[in-house]
Amino acid sequence: MTPEQARQWLEHAPADPGKIADGLRGWITIDEHFYCAVCTGRLLKRGCANWTIGASPVWDPEAPPGPCAACGKGEAPPAAAATAPSLSDP
Ligand SMILES: [Zn+2]
Repeated sequence: MTPEQARQWLEHAPADPGKIADGLRGWITIDEHFYCAVCTGRLLKRGCANWTIGASPVWDPEAPPGPCAACGKGEAPPAAAATAPSLSDP
């Protein structure tokens, strides 16, 4: 499944992704695209499941690898040290 296919399939997928497991942020497919739990839930409800072969779930507290390849949303990685005040040595 390419991100383009995912977007096409999502156009006709049920809007409701169903119940999402606590802490499940999404999935990384074997071609290393991240899809959020909402998009993957909707794809499964539509019957599109070939992307699940070899895919790995992403759970809290793992940082998701970026925005969803299909919707661009999903869980963004927590902005960790980047926004913290610098405490580096003078
Ligand atoms: Zn998504």
